[in-house]
Amino acid sequence: MGNVFRRSSGRGWRLRQNSMRLWPEWIQKLNSYKTPLTFDKPLIQLAASEKEAEIMDELIKKKSKFGIYRIQPEDFPKLNVTWPTAKYGGLISAFDGRIDPIALLKALRIALQNIGVKEFKKTVKKLARNSSTSSKRWDILLNDGTKLTQDFVIICAAQGSEKLIKDLGYKIGLEAILGQALEVELDSQNNNWLNWPAVLISNGINLIPQSQNKLLIGASIEQGTKPQASELEKLKTLKGLAPNWLKTAKVINSWHGIRCKPINQYAPILENPEPGLIIATGHYRNGILLSPATAEWIGSCITSS
Ligand SMILES: Cc1cc2nc3c(=O)[nH]c(=O)nc-3n(C[C@H](O)[C@H](O)[C@H](O)COP(=O)(O)OP(=O)(O)OC[C@H]3O[C@@H](n4cnc5c(N)ncnc54)[C@H](O)[C@@H]3O)c2cc1C
Repeated sequence: MGNVFRRSSGRGWRLRQNSMRLWPEWIQKLNSYKTPLTFDKPLIQLAASEKEAEIMDELIKKKSKFGIYRIQPEDFPKLNVTWPTAKYGGLISAFDGRIDPIALLKALRIALQNIGVKEFKKTVKKLARNSSTSSKRWDILLNDGTKLTQDFVIICAAQGSEKLIKDLGYKIGLEAILGQALEVELDSQNNNWLNWPAVLISNGINLIPQSQNKLLIGASIEQGTKPQASELEKLKTLKGLAPNWLKTAKVINSWHGIRCKPINQYAPILENPEPGLIIATGHYRNGILLSPATAEWIGSCITSS
């Protein structure tokens, strides 16, 4: 077949809004004493230049109904640390923020177990159409030789999706974009995050309070799978905009991960090319943010088939 999926545009903002609508519901459902989850708000993005401030003004004109407002330097909350760039103000997104991804994955795993979802800790070697029955359409061959036959198959295997899809006669292009992040410990005088937003973005870099004097900084955007030391330095210095308290902070942890990005196509790839075959992959930098909207879309593919 060799079918290539057509590019889709304009879907990103819709998916984002759907996720923002669904997150409070998800948190309520997933929250338990074993897996406490919170959605910390808001997000403040600082403008690094006059030009960026103008772009923010344009965005706010179009999106103010989504709780996005301009924030001027004099409106910044008073902190005992200086803001990285206060000169041009920024924007505040009242409903945006942060959820702890580790806590979220733990909560999801427990919720799936509670509804009886069976987990196979195996790799899928091959997918194939099963023409012998009208309902159970898909054979799933695992690397230990187990064969499962199912009504639906949802391919969400990041870089591994390419091969699984190719075996079925479709083509997608995915590339690896590495991201590094840091945890720093601040001098004890600068340890009060009171009035700091859940996420502060400066020069495209996120600053997230982790605990009293600890801060997460991320993430770099690097082509390929090999982390570059120079990119870690750029994070720590906010590409030249870091205030002194950040420059002198001690790096106590660093890590990296791979994001899967569609080539020449908007992220994510959400396709339902034939009955029972669902592709939901290539979420690039927004896989966590968009998980509720992606799940809702997958659900609609299943219920409408
Ligand atoms: C440093 C960093 C910071 C990020 N920050 C954010 C953020 O702030 N907000 C946000 O929304 N997103 C963020 N992301 C992106 C987010 O992590 C990804 O979009 C998300 O993890 C994608 O989820 P996924 O399940 O599609 O893919 P993955 O998390 O890559 O998981 C794919 C899984 O498929 C498995 N697999 C592959 N092939 C097979 C096979 N043949 N059979 C069985 N299993 C297979 C793999 O082992 C893997 O477990 C960040 C990523 C990085 C690296």
